[in-house]
Amino acid sequence: MWHSKKMGKFTLRFRPYTLELRHVFTVASFSRSTTPVILTELEYEGVIGYGEASMPPYLGESQDSVIQFLNKVDLSAFSSPWQTAELLHYVDQLEERNTAAKAAIDIALHDLLGKLLNQPFYKIWGFHPNRIPPTSFTIGIDTEEMVRKKVEEASTFKMLKVKLGLETDKMMIDTIRSVSNVPLCADVNQGWKDKHHALEMAHWLNERGVVFLEQPMPKEMMEENAWLTERSPIPTIADEACQRLHDIPGLHGVYSGINIKLMKCTGMREAKKMAEFATTLGMKVMLGCMTETSCAITAAAQLAPIVDWADLDGALLISNDLYKGMEVMNGQCLLKDAPGIGIIPRAQHN
Ligand code: MG
Repeated sequence: MWHSKKMGKFTLRFRPYTLELRHVFTVASFSRSTTPVILTELEYEGVIGYGEASMPPYLGESQDSVIQFLNKVDLSAFSSPWQTAELLHYVDQLEERNTAAKAAIDIALHDLLGKLLNQPFYKIWGFHPNRIPPTSFTIGIDTEEMVRKKVEEASTFKMLKVKLGLETDKMMIDTIRSVSNVPLCADVNQGWKDKHHALEMAHWLNERGVVFLEQPMPKEMMEENAWLTERSPIPTIADEACQRLHDIPGLHGVYSGINIKLMKCTGMREAKKMAEFATTLGMKVMLGCMTETSCAITAAAQLAPIVDWADLDGALLISNDLYKGMEVMNGQCLLKDAPGIGIIPRAQHN
């Protein structure tokens, strides 16, 4: 099942895997019940780092495109994983896109480096794991009965994220509020097309305890999003509009903050730069994820101590996680004091 490539001192292995979602997941533009991923391993002097690429269909990457990219990678020119900046720059310039494929290498490399130092990566970065904000749990668009059921199942979470952007928006919020008082955040996934409607909704949501608004309108509607941000009683967050570090200057003044995801931004190294740059500009930082195994989620969580909001429920939404890593207890992310990104394969654990 594993493809294996020996490249000088490094060996890269990868294989496709399909994540099964616990519930069919619906957002403003589509529904799905599985997510394709590629699992990676990067070996150097007998030490193995784990990585992952997750490819929800709307991002334009597939298992085939990731495999194609990984087949192109040749690390034989690098004699040490400590040439980290140079190595990841080489990987990045191979293709313009393929951000998830790049993240699969970046995560495996960080895991490897942490294991070589025998320290968790959050410690190497100098972050305290107790600073992680509680993670939200996502409620997809669904019927009233299912929404109520999902919210009741999520009663231990201190924050819920609700997907909006269809005609059912007010029903979704009213239904959640009939069974829960926790703070909410709303992700519209570009679903609203009119700035006046968006502003009206921002006020309506604010009155119902929604604390921020993610990607209210299409990313192309820069002026309208800026107009809304100026007037909205709650912060606006760019998700679809924000992929990588170089996007941030153009978003300053258009949104109140950004949503960083490893699969959009090529991995942990750039994600950290983005969090620090956005914070410097006075923007809010949210750390999000795709549906992913505990590998990519735990990798993202290394950065969570320096963000304003964490949305790291991706591994909780699947039924066939292959790794044991960050755990969520009463809505709080718990990072282990384990080297690298701190995950172990489940088969070995059991
Ligand atoms: Mg989003």
